[in-house]
Amino acid sequence: MADDLAALAARAGTLREQLERAAYEYYVLDRPSISDAEYDRLFHELRRLEEEHPTLRTADSPTLRVGAEPATHLVKHTHLVPMLSLANAFDEAELAEWEERIVRLAGDDVRRSGYTCELKIDGAAISLSYREGVLVEGATRGNGTIGESVTANLRTIHDIPLRLRGSDHAFMMEVRGEVYMPFSGFERMNEERIAAGEPVFANPRNAAAGALRQLDPAITAGRPLRFFGYAVAVPDGEDVPATTQHELLELLASWGIPVAPHHCRCATLDDVHRWAHDVEHRVRGTLDFAIDGAVVKVDALGLWPDLGVVGGREPRYAIARKFAPDIAETRLLAIEVNVGRTGTINPYAVLQPVEIGGAQVKLATLHNFDLVARKDLRVGDIVQVKRAGEVIPQIIGPVPDQRDPSEPPAPFVPPTHCPACGTALVTGNEQGMLYCPNFECPGRRLEGLVHFASRGAMDIRGLSYARLRQLVDADLVRDAADLYDLTAQQLADLERLAEKSADALVAAIDASRAQPLSRLLFALGVEHVGEIAARQIARHFGSMDALAAASADDILAIHGIGDTIANSLASWFSNPNARRLVRRLAERGVTMTEPQASSGGALKGLSIVITGTLPTLSREQAIALVEANGGRVTSGVSKKTSFVVVGADAGSKLDKARTLGVETIDEAELLRRVAE
Ligand SMILES: [Zn+2]
Repeated sequence: MADDLAALAARAGTLREQLERAAYEYYVLDRPSISDAEYDRLFHELRRLEEEHPTLRTADSPTLRVGAEPATHLVKHTHLVPMLSLANAFDEAELAEWEERIVRLAGDDVRRSGYTCELKIDGAAISLSYREGVLVEGATRGNGTIGESVTANLRTIHDIPLRLRGSDHAFMMEVRGEVYMPFSGFERMNEERIAAGEPVFANPRNAAAGALRQLDPAITAGRPLRFFGYAVAVPDGEDVPATTQHELLELLASWGIPVAPHHCRCATLDDVHRWAHDVEHRVRGTLDFAIDGAVVKVDALGLWPDLGVVGGREPRYAIARKFAPDIAETRLLAIEVNVGRTGTINPYAVLQPVEIGGAQVKLATLHNFDLVARKDLRVGDIVQVKRAGEVIPQIIGPVPDQRDPSEPPAPFVPPTHCPACGTALVTGNEQGMLYCPNFECPGRRLEGLVHFASRGAMDIRGLSYARLRQLVDADLVRDAADLYDLTAQQLADLERLAEKSADALVAAIDASRAQPLSRLLFALGVEHVGEIAARQIARHFGSMDALAAASADDILAIHGIGDTIANSLASWFSNPNARRLVRRLAERGVTMTEPQASSGGALKGLSIVITGTLPTLSREQAIALVEANGGRVTSGVSKKTSFVVVGADAGSKLDKARTLGVETIDEAELLRRVAE
């Protein structure tokens, strides 16, 4: 028995090591060596071992990454060494004053040491306690001396190592760094929150700080948090295992701690100025995370104690070189609209050109007319504009006291007629949106053609936006069917298109005739009909004729298809222009059928629990869908459950799933899995 347990313990150790290496390769190196499926398999094996033999559970087990039991309150943590804050320098002159002061204190040793410069991440500062290389506690900065212990939450952040790599770490030490939320993850999370009717977060920093202080680690696990380390603290009397800051960063990286990119060793202050200028005006706009400046540190760690700490709070060895905020004020010159392919009227702001974070900004998105009204944006206002990373610039709002009270600009009035065709606009399902109902609207036409040719749709390579615009302007193409009449000669006559490219484009258009009905259906751009729905509908009906003859109720009978999609499709097919387009496509040899897939077994052998109210499927429809795909629906969550489909107001079953670490998915993911 003891031998068995020893063997199992060895197996658990191997699994932990494999899983941690996989997480390191995936999250830190961005070079995964095993598939997600393989990772899941190893993960579930380890979780089963730990459930059957709780003594095998360790503090560095990757199973802790899915979130432990919720806490009732956060406990205090006293930092080994206080977490200090930094003094600021707002320009090159202030940075030079700082150097003068420290040279007075420590002499020319400072200049001989040089500096290490790092990005200043705009996130939440934390401290990670490692004992013999294993993460045992993690805490927020708090007041610098005492923070809050958020260990279970920090363990859910995949690029924080639960066990350090290498061996040259101190017995007990704290790794300091910054938890942040990448822009990409932040945007995606907010989109999901809007879709779920939840309030959105104002900025990535607040979202990261809020996620860290959650009592339920499962909530933190669902937020896209990442980490960068930059410092190490050891108990009094011990030495940090490096002699310079740039060595320390290398050491951190060798331990598997993610280190922020673009750090630089600079021999002189002039080099520091040049590096900081480059980061502020070029690098900053390319990053997927927010920075609010750079940190400049005296490189030789041995000089740090001599330089001392000002007021017990700000060390002299380092300084924050702050950058101008990525927000600027400028004048709103006009609010214009364009017409989307489904007829949506999309407002956007035309701005007096202004530089933000090193890039010139002339346009900003306004989303919809409700937002314009809510923010009370008026043409002529001075507005605050924010540009973060690669994200489209957004208007925060007007600057109130900049508005002349004696002569305020007139409130913005949304258009009543389509700017492209003059048809009276209508309101639709989505709040604050206006639509042009004219199927033939030239404004919709170009966007519709771009969508038709796009990758997920008919996938016509080489038919770019600019090319389509030329074709529409030259009146060679009025609808998608016209594309199939184009000749290489007509294309070659267009500006800037070589004969070879014209031939290739005609061949690409020709090849798209073979795309199945599901892609064609998506390509037609019927409102609400996305790729997944198009695939389900095409499989169900098998041919365009059968679909065109179907009623909304017939379409609604398909598992996973709700009212919105069914009504939208039925009303689309009732439009004579739509029917004409379909007929013209068929006449040109475009495929109107869907190959029959082998009978559904996507969920074969799986045991699935459904909880809460799903957005489109009724409970009966969801069960029928699972069973039609070979799965089995059970009522209670156990460790045998393959996954739980979670809807709104899910209760104890969701809690149980989280406790057991059973995978949870939403309805959209379920539909995706059965559609595969
Ligand atoms: Zn129109």
